[in-house]
Amino acid sequence: MAEDRLACRECHHVNDPDAQTCEHCGSSSLTEDWAGYVIITQPEDSEIAAEMNVTKAGSYALKVR
Ligand SMILES: [Zn+2]
Repeated sequence: MAEDRLACRECHHVNDPDAQTCEHCGSSSLTEDWAGYVIITQPEDSEIAAEMNVTKAGSYALKVR
């Protein structure tokens, strides 16, 4: 069970619980139903970031439903 933070369905960024839109991409498609918290600090050097198409440093959900 994830915390009540909200993951973005578009970019997988994990936002604060009271977020209305994703602070990274501006999408309003946020969900509490996510799993696997990763912090990416250097997207250019990260295989996970490449797999997830992440280009900005930040915290992300591995799985978003
Ligand atoms: Zn987003």
